[in-house]
Amino acid sequence: MDNQITVAQRNRAIKKALSEVYNRENVTVKGHTGTAYGWMTIKVTVSKPIHEHNQERYGHCSICHELQTLEEKKITEIVHETVKKIGSYIGTYSSDDGYGSTYENMHVEARIV
Ligand SMILES: [Zn+2]
Repeated sequence: MDNQITVAQRNRAIKKALSEVYNRENVTVKGHTGTAYGWMTIKVTVSKPIHEHNQERYGHCSICHELQTLEEKKITEIVHETVKKIGSYIGTYSSDDGYGSTYENMHVEARIV
């Protein structure tokens, strides 16, 4: 029968893997527990380096913005590695953009504080 890993187990494995890098108290993983196709939200708090904020980029500090982009990429990679390792998956949906693009049901947010 279906001996697939449950969504709760998958989310716990993701939380554990991210906690090893970012510390447990900085990581939240929320997902619908019904099916692995459901939407998942991952939020990680990251300390910003000490620097003078420069407001050059449309009112955002370009250093913090760059850090956020890098961390979100890194978090996504850790999530992909983890689900592969445990034999699970992230749900996807197809866009109706006319190109048949596929996206993951996953929102990753690095909060730089
Ligand atoms: Zn900054």
